[in-house]
Amino acid sequence: MKIIAMIPARYGASRFPGKLMQDLGGKPVIVRTYEATKATDLFDEVYVVTDSQIIFNEIEINGGKAIMSLKEHECGSDRIAEAVADMDVDIVVNVQGDEPFTSKEGLEQVLSVFNGPDADKIDLASLMTEIHDWKEISDPNCVKVIVDKDNFAQYFSRSPIPYPRDKNAAVQYYKHKGIYAFRKQAILDFYRLPMRSLEAAEKIECIRYLEYGKNIKMAISNTQGIEIDTPEDLVRANKVLKEDKREVVNNKYRNFPMVPKVVFGQGCFDQLSSILAPQRKDKAPFIFLVDDVFKNNKELTDRINLRFNDKVLFISAEEEPKTTQVDQIVKDIKHEFTYKPSGIIGIGGGTILDLAKAVSIMLTNKGSAADYQGWDLVKTKAVYHVGIPTISGTGAEVSRTTVLTGPVKKLGINSDYTPFDQVVLDPDLTIGVPRNQWFYTGMDCFIHCVESLNGTFLNAFSESYGEKAYDLCKEIFLDDKLSDEESRGKLMMASWHGGMSIAYSQVGVAHAMSYGLSYVLGTKHGIGNCIVFDHLEEFYPKDVKLFKQMVDKYNITIPKNLCSDLSEEQMNTMIDIALSLVPLWENALGDDWESIMTREKLKALYLKM
Ligand code: NAD
Ligand code: ZN
Repeated sequence: MKIIAMIPARYGASRFPGKLMQDLGGKPVIVRTYEATKATDLFDEVYVVTDSQIIFNEIEINGGKAIMSLKEHECGSDRIAEAVADMDVDIVVNVQGDEPFTSKEGLEQVLSVFNGPDADKIDLASLMTEIHDWKEISDPNCVKVIVDKDNFAQYFSRSPIPYPRDKNAAVQYYKHKGIYAFRKQAILDFYRLPMRSLEAAEKIECIRYLEYGKNIKMAISNTQGIEIDTPEDLVRANKVLKEDKREVVNNKYRNFPMVPKVVFGQGCFDQLSSILAPQRKDKAPFIFLVDDVFKNNKELTDRINLRFNDKVLFISAEEEPKTTQVDQIVKDIKHEFTYKPSGIIGIGGGTILDLAKAVSIMLTNKGSAADYQGWDLVKTKAVYHVGIPTISGTGAEVSRTTVLTGPVKKLGINSDYTPFDQVVLDPDLTIGVPRNQWFYTGMDCFIHCVESLNGTFLNAFSESYGEKAYDLCKEIFLDDKLSDEESRGKLMMASWHGGMSIAYSQVGVAHAMSYGLSYVLGTKHGIGNCIVFDHLEEFYPKDVKLFKQMVDKYNITIPKNLCSDLSEEQMNTMIDIALSLVPLWENALGDDWESIMTREKLKALYLKM
């Protein structure tokens, strides 16, 4: 099968005249597009078809292939049809001249349908991408498409299709992307056929194919390109090119989101109903994920105030959250409710809070939670989510991550969409926490501060939060001056500040090693940190000493000898998991961390535990 790419290029674009000849990082936009298309290696030939001598010359000078159109044409497809009429080709792909960052992925997807089981039926293929924002859905400049069950296009429109009579209807909208792959005959037919009324009304070219009964197969692509439609787009594109990195993971300056709304105070939990009311969407329920220690606690559950089809799911915090568990909860919710929930409310410790964050993300993002473990992999905004801690220390109520154990790693979903939209900090909710557990989770906070304050990523921002939380922890765990009530309030704020501190830096050695323990032995986070931290004098001498004082003061027994009987394989997995957490090590030990924390060194440390 011979496949070529055609890039129609008109000089005089109405919105931004001469845009294809504008400079983009030292080359005209159209040359960039040509080179990007060629670089995909998907085509036997790549041509620019143009009405402009200037564009023609520019492409030839740069060693590309250009064709002058003979006639004035109404649209790009006509220009292509004329050019391919006498060529020996099977499939012609139309690439937009003003998409200089045209990606291989999108083009591959549009071509792949011609290898599918229904290839014979396809006259042409095109791309669509998921959209969620109602502003975009209702924008007439954004062409929407609806498809049948086999992804054949049924109609394209500038109106929102389908029209959502009920705004919460669970329907996926798709935006049409102007990339086409035609069988040669289809594009020749197009050229012959006069425009009909639907196309004329909507001013959407591809409606003509539908009006004449052609089959358009749509492929889904969610990669974002940058289209040059305005001078501002060009400025943006030039920036992208200059930075030469499209990803902003671990930028020098992090631009991280914060929790926009927080209520604090004894008894503020009772305000929950009035906080949620304005967020309720018609028939869409609120789902409460509640730690199952509260299952028979009528005092708390009565205060939750369920309305309509709201639902409480009691969840055990016996084990730390897993990606499979998140997937199952999401599946159950989707199965039970036609409408996407109005919100997810997590009530519990770090385990439940992290689950709530992850479930809210996975209700709007495809696939498994495991696909999103890492930094900035989440594409779509989560549903509204609220965090209500019932034990303090993890900082999960404020952090940008949700820690999950997946099939191959223990790693958070760290994204701008992870933090809660609302947090309710009611110190009274922590009254029933058992002493040991209070200590372990409190130490999580202490260790967050130590790791942040001693890390190489530290700056004044992290330091100001970290120091405050550190001082609060010392006050709570070493001084004897606080009443229980004061202590609960202060630990809640220490947790918050500790979370904020690591948001702009990172955790360190104890967390990296504790993740390894947890992955292999299922050791829980708080206690795992304590087990590890107890042996880290070498890295945090002053604070390990303080920690030991606290352990003594509260008569806590830290488990020992966990690793001496591990098999070779288990030890290797533990080491692999710990070493995979690169940002933690970079923060703890600097760029040179790999020469300091060797596998042998790590093994020796684990064997002490
Ligand atoms: P947890 O949520 O596992 O709870 C510990 C125990 O306390 C459980 O048995 C729970 O049922 C019980 N409990 C909770 N509240 C209670 C109450 N009011 N009364 C009586 N019992 C109560 O423990 P945790 O230490 O809060 O959280 C640990 C989890 O948090 C881990 O999964 C860890 O990975 C995660 N974490 C997340 C972040 C983050 O930034 N997202 C940071 C640190 C830790
Ligand atoms: Zn922690």
